[in-house]
Amino acid sequence: RAKELGGGRYQFFTDSLNQLIKERMTIENLLRKALERAELVLYYQPQVDLLSGAIVGVEALLRWHTTLEGLSPEGLVMPGTFIPAAEETGLIIPIGWWVLRSACAQSRAWRTQGYPPLRMAVNISARQLRDGNFIRDLQEIIAAGDLDPEWLELEITESVIIENAAATVELLQQIKRLGVRISLDDFGTGYSSLNYLRRLPIDTLKIDKSFIENIALDTKGAKVVTGIIQLAHSLDLTVLAEGVETPAQRLFLLANRCDVMQGFLFSRPVPAEEMERLLAGINSVVPNVF
Ligand code: C2E
Ligand code: MG
Ligand code: MG
Ligand code: MG
Repeated sequence: RAKELGGGRYQFFTDSLNQLIKERMTIENLLRKALERAELVLYYQPQVDLLSGAIVGVEALLRWHTTLEGLSPEGLVMPGTFIPAAEETGLIIPIGWWVLRSACAQSRAWRTQGYPPLRMAVNISARQLRDGNFIRDLQEIIAAGDLDPEWLELEITESVIIENAAATVELLQQIKRLGVRISLDDFGTGYSSLNYLRRLPIDTLKIDKSFIENIALDTKGAKVVTGIIQLAHSLDLTVLAEGVETPAQRLFLLANRCDVMQGFLFSRPVPAEEMERLLAGINSVVPNVF
């Protein structure tokens, strides 16, 4: 059978496999060095209360400022290109730990500088959550006093539930007992959604941007979003819409009582200094939408 496929194809397969293995090793080494050389940086994207227009939180989003040529045109690598490799190699554990500590330290710095309290949302990958030390590390961060736990929100995705539902619920309950909030990210793109929604001790449901995109496209797309908002509210969850890009989407969400929005309409993810200008209200990115 293998012969029928022809040696050429087989050769092609092993070549690509070797290439893949080589690239993975490279990215692992590169990421390790990135951590050591402090090339990782957090950007922040505001989360805005739909009714008042106030910034009520920020999501920390990881960026990699690489000094390597050819890896990215602007020297800025987006998480989509390295988080999967970080998860596969396990480097997500030290990286995730760095992200959590840095986000909490930034939050403390903003409080010290006199900005009003803001929720700090941090993405936690499934592998990081399943690491045996996660709760202990989280406790350590809270004990360090950088951030009042109620102002910290961990963003998890439905994928964490699939692997071991009972253990996940228990883990999330431990997080809740520490006083930390939990949100379900990219809601609607995974498998488990409706059945587990009832059992998960979450505070916020983040509607994935693919649903927000569909609002204007057709009435069914709009009805799905309305349905998710109603479902979330009936379960006493806060609802946040991701990927809000247009004034029409914002108006629709406002009319349908969505609580919070996040998206390019208000601001792209920005470096901390730019976030400070947004918080101070000096440099409103989209001054005309409200
Ligand atoms: P996410 O957690 O769902 O984050 C939202 C993503 O949507 C961000 O992409 C953000 O830049 C993008 N976005 C925000 N508003 C809009 C909009 O109006 N339109 C569009 N088209 N996109 C918008 P980003 O920063 O590239 O991050 C991608 C994903 O990488 C994140 O999705 C998250 O799953 C992961 N990620 C980012 N930072 C971390 C981290 O520190 N740890 C872990 N484990 N994952 C992270
Ligand atoms: Mg997120
Ligand atoms: Mg998301
Ligand atoms: Mg995502």
